[in-house]
Amino acid sequence: MEEEKKNICALCYKTDKREVELVKKHDTLFCPNCKTTLILKWETPLGRYSEMWKENSEKIYPYLRPDIYQDEMPNPRLFFLYEDCYVNMLIGRYNAAIVLMGVLLEALMKERIHLKTGVVFKGAYGPALSEIEIKNLMQMGDIRFLREFKDSVRNLYQHADIEEILRGTYVRVWPIQFEGELTAEKLKKAHEQAKDGKIKPLLLPAANFPAFAAIIKQKRDRAISIMLFNRVYDFVRGAMVKYFKQEEYDEHKKMFGDKMAELPHYTIE
Ligand SMILES: [Zn+2]
Repeated sequence: MEEEKKNICALCYKTDKREVELVKKHDTLFCPNCKTTLILKWETPLGRYSEMWKENSEKIYPYLRPDIYQDEMPNPRLFFLYEDCYVNMLIGRYNAAIVLMGVLLEALMKERIHLKTGVVFKGAYGPALSEIEIKNLMQMGDIRFLREFKDSVRNLYQHADIEEILRGTYVRVWPIQFEGELTAEKLKKAHEQAKDGKIKPLLLPAANFPAFAAIIKQKRDRAISIMLFNRVYDFVRGAMVKYFKQEEYDEHKKMFGDKMAELPHYTIE
């Protein structure tokens, strides 16, 4: 009989002479002791992703404003864009969620312009906001919110300006030089000395370290996206009540006509 071959963690064996069996989960093998993870590229990642999405949604759900249903947001264009933001928040794609908040606000402004002027506005966020301001299509406080969002969030995320996003964010760095060959033992020793405070860290701007900047940004995105999502949500809910009233739709039809009504219709007897 053939003996079953076990997968042993090479790192634990090398550093502690311990035989720790790797555990298979979806498309990964991981060591329960040192947390080393290996990806098995011939397996599908779908199980890993769906588990990650489920865990993330359950964790973040209580921090987000309650769900909106389609009948509470009768404009389907805006409702689908809201869902894009919401679902990305749930599955933990915070950068995407923030970018899409900008898209949602831009579409909301364009819908407002169309409703009041009959014009299908083609410009981007900035020009749409100027149009709203010039034509007095929203209240001052709302215009201020949209402008602040543009300057401090939308422009940076739309153009993936990581330097600007991380401005003012500092990281602790332990500069260590290893003599000779780099081994697991040396790394472990360095880690312990840093942990015990024998080696002191330097405080440096996060944007200076391209290798870590993206990871630091992800952490930061999570924290700010919850706050931003809730602010955008409140703004959009308020806008639905203030700027998309039934009377305004009726008035729009009277002034600019009803494209659907102009079409030749079939008659069902
Ligand atoms: Zn291990």
